[in-house]
Amino acid sequence: MNMSADPPLPRLDQVWPPPHPVEPRSWQGTTLRRQNYAAVLRTVLTDGPISRVDIARRVGLTPTAITNIVASLLRAGLVREVEPPSLGRDRGRPKVPVGIDPAGLTVLGIFIGGTQTSIGLIDLAGQLIAETDIEQTSESADELIEQTAAAARELITAVPLPTPVLGVGVSIGGWVDTERGTVRDHVHQHWIGAPLRDRLAERIGLPVVLNSNARAMALLESWLGAAKGVRDFIYVSIGALVGAALVIDGKVYDGAGSASGNIDHLSVRVRAQERCFCGRRDCLHVMVSDDATLRLAHQAGVDPSVASVRALAEVARAGDAAAQRVLRNRARHTGTAVGQLADLLNPELILLGGSILDAPEYLDDVRRRAAAGAHAAPSVADIVRPSVFGLHALSRASGALVLNQYYGDPLAHPPLALGAGA
Ligand SMILES: [Zn+2]
Repeated sequence: MNMSADPPLPRLDQVWPPPHPVEPRSWQGTTLRRQNYAAVLRTVLTDGPISRVDIARRVGLTPTAITNIVASLLRAGLVREVEPPSLGRDRGRPKVPVGIDPAGLTVLGIFIGGTQTSIGLIDLAGQLIAETDIEQTSESADELIEQTAAAARELITAVPLPTPVLGVGVSIGGWVDTERGTVRDHVHQHWIGAPLRDRLAERIGLPVVLNSNARAMALLESWLGAAKGVRDFIYVSIGALVGAALVIDGKVYDGAGSASGNIDHLSVRVRAQERCFCGRRDCLHVMVSDDATLRLAHQAGVDPSVASVRALAEVARAGDAAAQRVLRNRARHTGTAVGQLADLLNPELILLGGSILDAPEYLDDVRRRAAAGAHAAPSVADIVRPSVFGLHALSRASGALVLNQYYGDPLAHPPLALGAGA
């Protein structure tokens, strides 16, 4: 495999030069200004439509400062005024709410799954504009990267867009090395070590941000989903891929070697007949992944034609005792891992995503086992909830990776960095 002798491409946050003020400013002054823009735009995203007065209250800046920043965001086309549903007599400009203008920016999101790749165009509000799913037709990372890049370029040219695409967010399961832009560990060996981020950036011609699908989903949940406003939570994905994302003090935590949330090989203290892809037999992955669940179901006598967790949940509902047992065990093993995570991080919320939501009647088994296993974290059962986004949000979530960098410093990127406003 070609291990990329090419020089690494710049990361998204290094691609566009920072704005050069006409007058020299102190480092603190510039930094503060950038932080203020980020805080205002982020508040409009998560709490909008919202009045300038309320933004000022939320962000802790003077109404005058907010009016100036919002005026600049309006000129740049990043926010728009939204007429309130009923016009009160005391309506004045500061009370007209502003919301994100979805047309302000476009990003591309790519989720690389086990057998399928989803590619979506996402607007500034985090909503999907268009999406395409492709079957992965090879087990060579080089070929899959070519196939993905070609489909991405095709989607960008096929859909008329109000603004150029800012960048690409790519997510994949396993242990993603966010520094090197590679995958360090994955259930499919061909991804390990492939120069995923840099090669996709080169082939698509746009900067790429790479991270794990669980971290991408956690971002989307924290902006627009069940974890809105939650500072500390864990997103646990149980499906074809098994993974978790830790959000600590409002930020997705990657870890020193970006291996945080790599829960595949947590011990569930039960020996499986099969070996995990790491070689052990007691891993969470080998007990709860989609493949493992279907294998266990077929071994237990469930009809071999049942080929998905969704179908397994249906036969369980129709009264198949073996299917019920397998799904309950899957939920319990998940609960064992969830209890350990709860003790480790003491989160406000634990969100479950992936195909485990195809059998929601077993979520109480997750809660009961988690509560039985967690010693330090109180009332774990009350904080385990389903993710609000289904499996189809994964390209959106991938786009959120690049939007996250944008919202973190809007003055570092177009249109504001090009002098359109501010
Ligand atoms: Zn393992």
